[in-house]
Amino acid sequence: MGKILVTGGTGFIGSHTVVELQEAGFEVIIVDNLSNSKIEVVDNIGRITGKTPEFENFDLSNRGETLSFFLRHRGEIDAVIHFAAFKAVGESVSKPLEYYRNNVGSLINILEAMKLSGVKHLVFSSSCTVYGQPDKLPVTESTPRRPAESPYGNTKSVNEDIIRDYCHAEKDINGIALRYFNPIGAHPSALIGESPVGIPNNLVPYITQTAAGVRKELSIFGNDYDTPDGTPIRDYIDVCDLSKAHVVAIRRLLDGKNKSNYEFFNIGTGRGLSVLELVNAFKKSTGAPLPYKIVGRRAGDIEKIWAETTLANNELGWKATVPIEETLLNAWKWEKKCRG
Ligand code: UDP
Repeated sequence: MGKILVTGGTGFIGSHTVVELQEAGFEVIIVDNLSNSKIEVVDNIGRITGKTPEFENFDLSNRGETLSFFLRHRGEIDAVIHFAAFKAVGESVSKPLEYYRNNVGSLINILEAMKLSGVKHLVFSSSCTVYGQPDKLPVTESTPRRPAESPYGNTKSVNEDIIRDYCHAEKDINGIALRYFNPIGAHPSALIGESPVGIPNNLVPYITQTAAGVRKELSIFGNDYDTPDGTPIRDYIDVCDLSKAHVVAIRRLLDGKNKSNYEFFNIGTGRGLSVLELVNAFKKSTGAPLPYKIVGRRAGDIEKIWAETTLANNELGWKATVPIEETLLNAWKWEKKCRG
């Protein structure tokens, strides 16, 4: 089938994607510096799939190490899925240089090393953050990008541009950027999931930690938005569904089915849920208590966004399938497992 290099393969989306790749018959080599993940993930992937992926620990923002890795593995790697990145929005505001150096620097090193070692295909983990608050919903791939709200968001936009420009210059390099909406959930085995360090920024980890008693109550950031119940709307996508989109993107590239050598797709469910709707779905599917209070808006939050997914449906033959209740139940199972 082929061997795929997954950078950031011990992280939340990376680890689930490694599982899906292996289950689809691909071999995987993970590169991760474990800056925000644990080595145990590698073995847990092996427990799920019956095969422990290869693993190397180094920092992809180190050019020498990246080039040397690709040259050592010359002729062995068929494609790269690049997840490795810093992802804390707030932290990126206070440490912009670290974010640009790591997130942009790593991509440049990888593209350069791909060229040198003859690897032709790249799938990049992008984000709907590149759209900002769109005027028209749902957002399609032709919705214009907006200036990012944070250095983190800007690294996604800049990296898309770098890939587009490099694919334009190097006709034998192919790239696909997947613009994720809000990835949530965990593998149904509860062997891998999301492990935020410290106080979670994202809604679902905060919800599961509150229900588990780690946090006193959930703060809902604002109920005075222009939405039916006043709380912001997002398109929450199951992490296993999202991971499968990477497998089909890789197949598209390896089979030469891509229509141009740089493409990008929205990866969401096509359905928007408000914070309150998500909270209620969690309570209903898990039966767990979830105390919450309404507080003021969070700076930088957008009001509403959800995806138009027709392009991914038609071109990739991919569609989200997991019902939100099941996704939330998996997130809850994972949280309980982590709490022992
Ligand atoms: N949110 C909230 N309380 C929290 C965390 C998030 O009310 O503790 C809301 C947030 O205002 C947003 C939604 O949940 O409307 C999703 O937030 P998240 O940070 O998960 O994703 P993003 O804002 O990046 O789409």
